[in-house]
Amino acid sequence: MRVLLAEDDDLLGSGLRAGLRQQGFQVDWVRDGVAAENELLTGAYLAAVLDLGLPRQDGMDVLAKVRARKIVTPVLVLTARDAVPDRIQGLDAGADDYLVKPIDLHELAARLRALVRRSHGQTQNALVAGGLELDPLAHQVKWDGNVLDIVGREYELLHVLMRNAGRVLSRAQIEQHLYEWGQEVASNAIEVHIHHLRRKLPPNTIETVRGVGYVVHKGVAS
Ligand code: CA
Repeated sequence: MRVLLAEDDDLLGSGLRAGLRQQGFQVDWVRDGVAAENELLTGAYLAAVLDLGLPRQDGMDVLAKVRARKIVTPVLVLTARDAVPDRIQGLDAGADDYLVKPIDLHELAARLRALVRRSHGQTQNALVAGGLELDPLAHQVKWDGNVLDIVGREYELLHVLMRNAGRVLSRAQIEQHLYEWGQEVASNAIEVHIHHLRRKLPPNTIETVRGVGYVVHKGVAS
């Protein structure tokens, strides 16, 4: 999921970018309101995180301008604790949601996913393979009810395999799926992520089909 982050504070911006990447988002970061407007006008983002206090042009003006140009990208506004009137104005100006600083990263990620889901009008059901369950809404993988420490690229990779449970996917097919979701994939990344995933998953969850690819069976390790 490609999202735009508009935040002029270096520390907060780099923290949010790193955290959102860890949560599986592809993040483009801009630091002023003019750049934010230009990026949003490309329509290339599934959602945007917009700080209201930006240099060159404040977030409210960015919102008003892009909405006037019929850009419907969901926008989550970041606002200071003491700026309640701001956030009401932000919602009036076309924001879809807001969070008050300091930002809880998990909450931000969850809200962004909810915005994307709402804007696509789609509901996503949990994927199940034996005792393994992947919940696309919570971005969570559970084994027999226990949450596993699988996030970021490892999560996206497992998501691809579980969406295609029972089908052998080649490395190229897996890369293609990840690209479609806005992920950048390095040349040996799939093997590395599979290796790490296997150490976290029950044995034999991901089967290697020699010379073909990888498969998660529908009844895996049940
Ligand atoms: Ca700011």
